[in-house]
Amino acid sequence: MKNIIFIAPPAAGKGTFSDMLAKKYGYEHISTGDLLRDAKNKNDALGQEISQLMSSGKLVPDKIVLELLENYIKKIDPSKRFILDGVPRNVSQIAPVLNIFKEMGIDDYVVIFLDVDYEKAMKRTLGRLTCPKCKRGYNEFSEEFKPKEDNLCDDCQTELVRRNDDTAETFKIRYDTYMSETAPIVDYFKKIGKLELITVLDKAVDNLPQIERIIK
Ligand code: ADP
Repeated sequence: MKNIIFIAPPAAGKGTFSDMLAKKYGYEHISTGDLLRDAKNKNDALGQEISQLMSSGKLVPDKIVLELLENYIKKIDPSKRFILDGVPRNVSQIAPVLNIFKEMGIDDYVVIFLDVDYEKAMKRTLGRLTCPKCKRGYNEFSEEFKPKEDNLCDDCQTELVRRNDDTAETFKIRYDTYMSETAPIVDYFKKIGKLELITVLDKAVDNLPQIERIIK
């Protein structure tokens, strides 16, 4: 199996596919969004800076994200394949990420671009719920990912929460940030022959066979 980098607009399903592949194939799922949310929850000066930027829909400075990423990657089992969910997220993050790969002796990776239309991504954002305890993701507007009982985690019965950047207003800013900062990195990976495109379908499980063909 290849290492994977997911690139996508907000709420396209990076986290959902990552969780599915982690469960089925033992991938280490590295989400910079999750690393930043954990740092934010410490509520120190750095946490407050991160919190402000994330809830405004803007990107967090490269230095902060890359430091969190490097510290996290150092601690994981080096024999495990991994999924990068959320990084690189702008052109200036490409070289540092590829440098980390180089230091780890990794060259068998694939970049999967999840192509999703604006309306679908907006709807997913507004329905998204997460378990604060076990981090399992749900969506109240999806038959596939609805919790069995309203607002409760199927696995640990904890009350589900909504991310504070999952509002219509912040989604629009996140989408604009994606268009100006993240979309240009797609061209780079296309040029070096690493890019694969997936058109996001209504049900995540229907996309899985195509993703599996790409990563084998
Ligand atoms: P989504 O892809 O649904 O927007 P994420 O959890 O990946 O959600 O990211 C949430 C927020 O975290 C982003 O809007 C941004 O503020 C911040 N973030 C995540 N990854 C990065 C990154 N690589 N560089 C800068 N900011 C990031």
